[in-house]
Amino acid sequence: MTARFREPVHAYYGPTMAYAVSEWSDVNGHAGPGFMLENVAVHPLTAAGALPGFGAELEARMAQLPYLARTAVLLRDRSRGRIQLDADGHPRIAYAPDAGDLARLRDGILAAARAYFAADAVEVYLPIQTAPPLRSAKDLDAFATAALTPAKLCNLYAVHLFGGAVMADAPARGVCDEDGACFAARGLFVTDASALPTNTGVNPQVTIMANALRIAERVATRGGRRG
Ligand SMILES: Cc1cc2nc3c(=O)[nH]c(=O)nc-3n(C[C@H](O)[C@H](O)[C@H](O)COP(=O)(O)OP(=O)(O)OC[C@H]3O[C@@H](n4cnc5c(N)ncnc54)[C@H](O)[C@@H]3O)c2cc1C
Repeated sequence: MTARFREPVHAYYGPTMAYAVSEWSDVNGHAGPGFMLENVAVHPLTAAGALPGFGAELEARMAQLPYLARTAVLLRDRSRGRIQLDADGHPRIAYAPDAGDLARLRDGILAAARAYFAADAVEVYLPIQTAPPLRSAKDLDAFATAALTPAKLCNLYAVHLFGGAVMADAPARGVCDEDGACFAARGLFVTDASALPTNTGVNPQVTIMANALRIAERVATRGGRRG
């Protein structure tokens, strides 16, 4: 989400992220729908990728860079993707956000837009190709029930990727067991984020490191063999 203000906010200086709204989160004691708002720095590359429009339209918006602020809507998704090998043995990744996730994403976008208008933004740009800039909170009404599609979203991406080689209790349900030992390859252990079966809903580095340490201890105890 991007908003334009009357006065320069110079959001390319300072910390990349400085504040967050956690009231819609579903972890750490919160019982919300499962998204958070986090401000992000307005660097030229990321701003250009998040703004709707191309060519002269995008150029005009980018010329306003000092006046722009940006917020990421972090969704704790429930959709399930799939990784398969194609006929040539190359991995093919399929990930289609389901209707529930897209609706919660829309609600997060609306919440961010409302916050920007409450802070007196002149315009708010939805991260949706073809969507016109919004000038007031009233403009949000038309969007409140709109169905999002992944193809229309300018900047849908993930930085917390899990589940490429999940831990499971049986080979039919995963790649490795709870100790990271691969079902199909003796002596091979998975210790990175790909072993986590679902997203954590919080920043994951500490969990990933703790899991790697846990598995390393088991490897040492088991002598690097499964079973
Ligand atoms: C922009 C961004 C911001 C983030 N911010 C946070 C945050 O604030 N807090 C937080 O907790 N998490 C954050 N994360 C998530 C976190 O960085 C990742 O979840 C975590 O680093 C994953 O750890 P990993 O060890 O599984 O994989 P990685 O850290 O990605 O490590 C994989 C390593 O394998 C190497 N590699 C890949 N292929 C090969 C190969 N064929 N041969 C040899 N080496 C190879 C790579 O070079 C890399 O060093 C962020 C991620 C991104 C992208």
